[in-house]
Amino acid sequence: MTPDEFRANGYALIDWIADYLGRVGTLPVTSEAHPGSIRAQLPAHPPETTEPFERVLHDLDRIVVPNITHWQHPNFFAYFPANISFPSILGELASAGLGVQGMSWVTSPACTEIESVMLDWMAELLGLPERFRFSSAHGGGVIQGTASEATLCAILAARWLATDGAVNHVGAASMTGLVAYMTSQAHASVEKGLRIAGIGTEQIRIVPHDHFFAMDTDALDRMMTDDRSNGLIPFFVNLTNGTTSSMAFDPVERAAEIAHLHGAWVHVDAAMSGIAALVPEYRWVNNGLEHVDSYATNPHKWMGINFDCDLFWTAHRSALLGALSILPEYLRSRALEEHDAIDYRDWQIPLGRRFRSLKLWFTLRTEGVRPAQHMIREHVALTQELSQWVIADGRFEIAAPHPLNLLCIAHRGGNASTDALIERVNATRQTLFTRTVLDHTSVLRWSIGARQTHREHVAETWKLVQSLAEPHPVGIQ
Ligand SMILES: *Cc1c(COP(=O)(O)O)cnc(C)c1O
Repeated sequence: MTPDEFRANGYALIDWIADYLGRVGTLPVTSEAHPGSIRAQLPAHPPETTEPFERVLHDLDRIVVPNITHWQHPNFFAYFPANISFPSILGELASAGLGVQGMSWVTSPACTEIESVMLDWMAELLGLPERFRFSSAHGGGVIQGTASEATLCAILAARWLATDGAVNHVGAASMTGLVAYMTSQAHASVEKGLRIAGIGTEQIRIVPHDHFFAMDTDALDRMMTDDRSNGLIPFFVNLTNGTTSSMAFDPVERAAEIAHLHGAWVHVDAAMSGIAALVPEYRWVNNGLEHVDSYATNPHKWMGINFDCDLFWTAHRSALLGALSILPEYLRSRALEEHDAIDYRDWQIPLGRRFRSLKLWFTLRTEGVRPAQHMIREHVALTQELSQWVIADGRFEIAAPHPLNLLCIAHRGGNASTDALIERVNATRQTLFTRTVLDHTSVLRWSIGARQTHREHVAETWKLVQSLAEPHPVGIQ
């Protein structure tokens, strides 16, 4: 592709993206693909001759669009959202066009410094405590790919601290007796991260939760006390602000107080809900953060910054660096040795890294946070309105508190009725819901978070759900 061809093809692709996002709401939300059906449409062997770009673009329409789940669709109510926005798409493109590797300050100074400024800007916009800013003595933040990676980094920092760094020298031998705590409502990535860090199931305590699916802190205290009296070492407590199943909020301040009395690191996973703090009236989602050791939230869910963009802050960057920095000769630099420059490779699992902060920089400068604030307010209001419709119907129960934008709905006929409803609704391909189980009750999770979702989409989909739900179970009032 010559530079001139690149210009022409690039313009065509931008047009294609704008058209796609303009019409995504007219498409079915899900595909009819079955495993292997897309492979069957592709040649088994790489092409022997080359083709014009138009042909490839054409196959986006022919092969890709009919065979994806349209996460940007206004009737997408499954999982949590993965919003994008035009300035963020352009930020991705600029990152691709610059093609830098930002692993160290010296490998691309602007990549590092713009990123650290974006972390400070976002800490300010979210109203996060001072201790996470670079201006504080020990804090700072980094863009991670995902909340899963952020949690793993927090676990590794906690493990380094709990073993006085011995984990780096003697490995597993230093980890005997380490114990981690979370509720059953914590995201699966927490257990996965612990497993990767060499902390097995027997070293993980599932702390009971209350009726609202939030951690029972008295139980946490008892479990940590028991473990310590048995000679074990509590080292890590995962708290969740906005659980994936029901958007429950653990009592961060109280839990952190207890965890610190017992010597453990406290990480708060707010992948979905933390972004709500962009809106002043929802800033309560930050309650207690001034007491925690690390924190993560995902602009790639509810802020319109393209995946991947997780923001991870710690108040103890020396523990993170202790766990993750390695300095082979080929990575030494004067900037690092003489000026204390940030080498972000020491803040994450991989070495290489993209210029992801451009997505935030472009978006914050050209649109600011008003569109995100407006969207968040609208989604929360729609969720509250939907809850009224659900109550008025009489066939359903709301299974969990819904302070933000997730409503968990159970059919009064029981789990089989709820499960069958979800299957019937999803089979229409006009919308998509995910199912979860809350203390043995099957629920339809209605997550209102896609950028293009407005009142009419929720209202129409609610009618669809009503039309496909079984009648009121006999004998239940
Ligand atoms: C979505 C989510 C995750 C996982 O996010 P990734 O960024 O995909 O790793 C973890 N925890 C919570 C609470 C989430 O909502």
